[in-house]
Amino acid sequence: MNASAAGQVSEALARIRRLDPHLRCVLTALEEDASARAAALDAAPPTPRGPLFGVPVAVKDNICTSSGATTCGSKILADFRAPYAAHVIERLHEAGAVVVAKTNLDEFAMGSSTENSGFFPTRNPWDVERVPGGSSGGSIVAVAARLVPYALGSETGGSIRQPASFCGVCGLKPTYGRVSRYGLVAFASSLDQVGPVAVDVPGVVRLLGAIAGRDERDSTSVGEPVPDYEGMLAESPGRIRIGYAREYFGEGLHPETRKATEAAIEVYRKLGADVREISLPHSAYTIACYYIVCTAEASSNLARFDGVRYGHRTKEPADYIDMYSATRDEGFGPEVKRRIMLGTYALSSGYYDAYYLKALKARTLIKSDFLEAFKACDVIVSPTTPTPAFRFGEKADNPLEMYLADIYNCAANLAGIPAMSIPCGFTESGLPIGLQLMAPHFAEGRLLQIAHAYQKATEHHLRKPPICAE
Ligand code: GLN
Repeated sequence: MNASAAGQVSEALARIRRLDPHLRCVLTALEEDASARAAALDAAPPTPRGPLFGVPVAVKDNICTSSGATTCGSKILADFRAPYAAHVIERLHEAGAVVVAKTNLDEFAMGSSTENSGFFPTRNPWDVERVPGGSSGGSIVAVAARLVPYALGSETGGSIRQPASFCGVCGLKPTYGRVSRYGLVAFASSLDQVGPVAVDVPGVVRLLGAIAGRDERDSTSVGEPVPDYEGMLAESPGRIRIGYAREYFGEGLHPETRKATEAAIEVYRKLGADVREISLPHSAYTIACYYIVCTAEASSNLARFDGVRYGHRTKEPADYIDMYSATRDEGFGPEVKRRIMLGTYALSSGYYDAYYLKALKARTLIKSDFLEAFKACDVIVSPTTPTPAFRFGEKADNPLEMYLADIYNCAANLAGIPAMSIPCGFTESGLPIGLQLMAPHFAEGRLLQIAHAYQKATEHHLRKPPICAE
């Protein structure tokens, strides 16, 4: 690869032009802005050069950038231009990276297949008849198809890990508070977090090192010092203690996914890891709890899209009430409307205690399960998803089935702990399978060390989708 910033950026833009028409992972290619930034970096390279000098990065379109639109995959924000860039974008720029594209997502990050995008669905590079997962489908596909080396996604309940597992790449959801959410359009504020995507663990580490840390503009970002993740990767991981969560290997788990996950645990055993069974007894409540908390928060967060302050406004409303309702009716897609209604219901007087408060109590129990389990292990491993990538339309008419696609993911968001997905094999028909690793709060360094130990012993992450050869 050409080491000049302009060389790297123009290669990425050329790959986007060539392959994206088949994959549709990009909403906006920032051709001009990215080329200008790269030329400026080459003309006056900062000293020292940033750790991501000239590296092209794709960014999920719910993260505000100073150039191009920030649509959140929604018609209501189709022409919205953010007045400021997100903290993570500033940090990428400081590290010398160049944002080359804004990527597709399920509208407002609500979904598990990218089929809920208000614009078009994104395709899985391993099989274009299948979904890439979601909601960060665009960012994940951009990395999986090698359009860019790195991307940023966001998670509220699995939106980085689930598509990473469907597309055979590595994706990390950091600890809640590890990365600033300033400039990430809010979906469910007690869960939302930005995270890195790359083909391997060292890539995730480079990107995480660039974006992690306290930012005064997000009061939920934490001052905990950012460890030297790269240094930690270079160290031996020592004795690895793996927790095998019995509840994550139950009914509904695809046989090939089970086989690949168990084989991955075997790899750890061969590396000398101590594997023991642990229990997360409140796992059965995860999906119900997540879908009450996230919809309740979404109903409040999305109230700001009212036709006055942002984006789309209906033409010729009868009066101001009609202006609000027609704007929102025209601007939001069906899944977003469903979430707003569910959340409003769960928060309404008379139901608040029965649903929202109950969900908060369940959330505390889910979190305590993890704190208890981590007394006996460094990481908990499981399949990332119950099945490999599904076909377009397969779950689109059944919201509950779609929600269950994240059954192994949402607990980490509710507990606030870091979790990642790394490739651990393929089905006979060539679809990627992901291994999930979850760790205690702020133990990203240890988590990444353990994930790296696996990748040093295996080659699944090196396999490229056939479309890359085109
Ligand atoms: N599938 C989850 C949902 O629809 C994923 C959300 C996310 O992590 N952004 O809520």
